[in-house]
Formats: sequence, structure tokens, C-alpha cells
Amino acid sequence: MPTVYDSIIIGAGHNGLVTAAYLARAGQKVLVLERRDLVGGCAVTEELWPGFKVSTASYVNSLFRPEIIRDLELKRHGFAMLPRSPSSFTPFPDGRYLLMGPDKEMTHREVSKFSKKDAEALPKYEAMLERVADFLEPTLVQTPPNPWSMAPGNLLALLKLGLGFKKLGTDGQKAIEILTGAANPILDRWFESEQVKATIATDAIIGAFATPSMPGTAYVLFHHVMGECDGVRGVWGYVRGGMGGLSNAIASAAKEKGAEIKTGTTVSHIVVKDNKATGVALADGTEYSAKRVISCLDATVTFLRLMDRKDLPADFVESVRNLDYASGSCKVNLALSEVPDFTCLPGNTPGPQHRGTIHLCPDRNYIEKAYDKAKYCYISDSPIIEATIPSSLDDTVAPKGKHVMSMFTQYFPYKLADDAGTLEENKKRYAERCIDIMTEYAPNFRKSVLNYQVLSPMDLERVYGLTGGNIMQGTMSLSSLSFMRPVPGYADYRTPVKGLYMCGAATHPGGGVMGACGYNAAREILRDS
Ligand SMILES: Cc1cc2nc3c(=O)[nH]c(=O)nc-3n(C[C@H](O)[C@H](O)[C@H](O)COP(=O)(O)OP(=O)(O)OC[C@H]3O[C@@H](n4cnc5c(N)ncnc54)[C@H](O)[C@@H]3O)c2cc1C
Repeated sequence: MPTVYDSIIIGAGHNGLVTAAYLARAGQKVLVLERRDLVGGCAVTEELWPGFKVSTASYVNSLFRPEIIRDLELKRHGFAMLPRSPSSFTPFPDGRYLLMGPDKEMTHREVSKFSKKDAEALPKYEAMLERVADFLEPTLVQTPPNPWSMAPGNLLALLKLGLGFKKLGTDGQKAIEILTGAANPILDRWFESEQVKATIATDAIIGAFATPSMPGTAYVLFHHVMGECDGVRGVWGYVRGGMGGLSNAIASAAKEKGAEIKTGTTVSHIVVKDNKATGVALADGTEYSAKRVISCLDATVTFLRLMDRKDLPADFVESVRNLDYASGSCKVNLALSEVPDFTCLPGNTPGPQHRGTIHLCPDRNYIEKAYDKAKYCYISDSPIIEATIPSSLDDTVAPKGKHVMSMFTQYFPYKLADDAGTLEENKKRYAERCIDIMTEYAPNFRKSVLNYQVLSPMDLERVYGLTGGNIMQGTMSLSSLSFMRPVPGYADYRTPVKGLYMCGAATHPGGGVMGACGYNAAREILRDS
């Protein structure tokens, strides 16, 4: 008799692994099927060149939920964080620079160089965000209530949400602005220095095909001040050994609890009989049976590629078809012979300027101009660059004395104009331009580049299975959050097909290495079991 699993999880993204670990911990017989030869999805470490271990997609962590670290004993399974202080360094064309981070005195001193008023305002701005975070953060690990359901449990959850909002008092208006508004008006209200605003504004656009003047960007800004690193709120860090260090720890915990993980195994079809998911099929015809199937893939891949339309209600298919995957993110991963020696803060051994995120974005108009080209389907002439050098804190990811750098850049449109040239030409031109920009601030940079890899949105789709190259498995605008994620009426990790669930970033609370989607999905699945 072939094995019938309790649960089959499609995709060993970190969320799929979290779901697997919790279900296995509850005694289920779990099988995880992953297309690539390694686990982790967008949270992986790949040795791109001998000795250079690169977090090829996601590169910094703060959002990962502390309750999961505790429950799954991830530290025992090898997970370790390296907090960053300072957390950011912005060199400016006029030869000045700005360091910011968890060291409040240092940050005050640094911001004062540009504006004493802003140095006073910054802690108050952060305190405001923290009060709003106190309201929003607990909702990350809750299943969103369904406002269209009159079920008593739902009404109670809505009431609780309302009471939480009431507690915010006048900060409630600020919470709504953060959830719906543009980042610029908020930054203009709080700060006067363009250098401070530009440094914070780059956080507002990460992964969004938008500029800080556009509605919806304030939430992305907020997303990037949430979370914690080793118990310290708002601090981002590197995972020792690269982002794969986290995924491998979750996989190890899942396996210890009995979950089976098969890599190099692509699911080509979700088998549905009498409106119930009964297993999955691979391209070679192999079938695996299960009482339930759980997808860690985005909604488009799950429902439109792996399923027959006849197995889904037409209006549901229509909602999935209308999902927004706009993206302009491009990752350039590099191997370096030495760290960049910045003219404004010299040093060719790792110093404070190398430990955090290096923002290359002198002012917010620079962002608008970069976006202008991309909206007409051309790569930006001068991309916004957020560069990180994890080897400045982690001696396990590069050969001694050498370094790895991640450049998270925008904007590289998913669809190029007909006269824009080939994808490969654009990738080369774009990466070379990124290297030139860094060299303008650190003259040794170009000659320090030993090798590089470019991941355009098309590559993110091809390698990681992200529709449109959207790094969050779907945009994070208000109309795609909470009870509307992935589509209205199905935010409880269930789908129109019995026994078919979702557990990846396409669900609430969305993209980021949080583990919350997988954690919430496991809770709902166990509730049905
Ligand atoms: C370039 C980039 C940079 C980012 N930077 C950060 C960051 O610094 N910090 C942060 O918190 N977040 C970041 N993010 C977002 C974050 O990485 C993702 O939101 C998160 O990792 C998604 O995890 P997941 O488990 O939900 O899904 P995924 O990681 O998307 O996993 C899905 C898995 O399914 C597999 N798969 C696909 N199709 C099939 C199939 N047919 N059969 C079997 N398996 C299949 C894929 O190979 C993949 O392993 C970044 C994302 C990208 C792409």
C-alpha cells in the first residue's frame, strides 16, 4: 500500500518548513516537496563561488517571530543572529555621511550633523511607530477575522480588533495613515533634513514598484521597523551563515519531529477528487497521496498553474487572476577582494560604515527619477542601492580577508520595452551601473569586484517561482493585506477546495522572513484536524 501522508507541503520556503515542523510536532506524518536542490525558498545561502556563501535573495532578518524560535528551539538547531550596529550608513555626494542605528547617542550625534531638530524628532517618531506596532504586531500571528462572516468567533475577533484600535486613541489616525498613505507626507511632517528623509525613505519602497510619494508606501516603511533581533525591538541583523542558516535550522527541527523533506522534486499538479485535495502529482507521473495539501507557493502558481480551473469556483479564479505582482526589484550579489573604502569615511578593513545597510540614494527626487524610467519599462539609469556586507560581521561566509556584498536595487521592470534590448544586455548594463555608482563613493570598489550575479525580476520568477518577480508573493498594498490576502474571503489559510490550504507569504501577514504565515496556517490546519 502506498503511504498516505497526513499533510503534503508544496515548497520548502521558510514558511512551508515552519508549517511542516508544527504539524510534525503535533504528530502528523508530513512530507515536504521542494523543486530546488536546497530548502529555504527566498531564505537561502548559496555558495556561488568557492568560499563565498551568499544570501542570494533575502539578506537581513528582524521579522522572524520569536515564538517560533522558542517553540522549535531553533537556536539548538544552529540558528544564530548577528545584530547590526550601526544599522545604516548613507554617504552623500557632498562628502558628508550619516550613520544611524540602535545606539541612540551615536544616532543623535549623527543626525545633529544635518539637523538638530531632526535629532530631537527621531526618537519621538520611532516611539509613535512603536505605539502603532503595539497594535499591529499581535495581529501578525492571528488569523484575520472575516468581515463578511456573522459567525460568533469572527464577530468576537472583529470586536477585539476594534477595541485594540480604540486603545490607540489619537494614534489611531496615524495608524490608518501608515496603512494607507504615502511615506513622503509623514517624513515631511517629522523631519526637515533631506538626507535623513532620503535614508528613511528607501525603507518605504523595498520590494514595491512605487515611490515614497505614492499611497501604500508608508506601510512598507513601517514593515521595516517591526520585528526584533535577539529580543531588541526594531534591530535588523544577519543570520550567521547567511539566510539559509535560518531555513536549515527550521528544516532540522521539522525533521527531528519526523517530517520528510524531498528536494529536487517539482510538483506539477494538485490532485482534487470530489472537491477535496487528495495529493499531488509530479511531472514524471509519480503521485503522493495525503489527507491534505498545503501550498507555500503564491496564489497564481497554486491555483492557475497547478490546478484545473474546473476544480475552483469561477469568481475565485477571477480574484486570483486580478492579483497585483508589480515589481521592480533586482538583486546584484557580489564577491569582493576587500571592503569599499569610502572617501567620506575611509577604511579598507570592516568598520561601522560596512556593518549596516549602505544606502546609495542621496535624495528622494533620485528615487522619483529612477522610477520614471522603469514605469516606461526601461531600467533605471541610476538605481537606488541598498548594499550589505554580511562578511563584515560573519566570518563564515567569505574566505579570510574577502567579502560578500548583497545589493538590493530598484528599479528593474519585469517587462522591458520592445526597444530596450535583450534581458541579458540590460542585466549587464544595470549591474555595471550599480558598480559605477558604488565606485563614485568608494574609488577602490570596481577593482575589488571578483565576480557578480544579477537576479532581475524575471530571474526571481524563474529561480524562486515568484510570479512577476514580486519579492512578497504579491504586493503589500492595503487592498492585499489582512482579510484580503491572498483574496477576500480566504484569509484563513483555507481555500475553496476541502483539504487544500495556503501557508506562504501570499497569505496574511505577507512577505518577509517572518514565519508568521506558516505558523498561522499550521494552527488553522490543526484546528480542522
Ligand atoms: C530578492 C529578495 C530579497 C528579499 N529580502 C528580504 C529581506 O532581506 N528580509 C526579509 O525579511 N524578507 C526579504 N524578502 C522577502 C522574503 O524573502 C519572502 O517573503 C519569504 O522568504 C517568502 O517565504 P515563503 O516560505 O512564504 O515562500 P518562498 O520563499 O517563496 O518559498 C516557496 C518555495 O516553493 C518552491 N516551489 C515553487 N514551485 C514549486 C513546485 N511546483 N514544486 C515544489 N516546490 C516549488 C520554491 O522553490 C520555494 O522554495 C526578500 C525576497 C526576495 C526575493
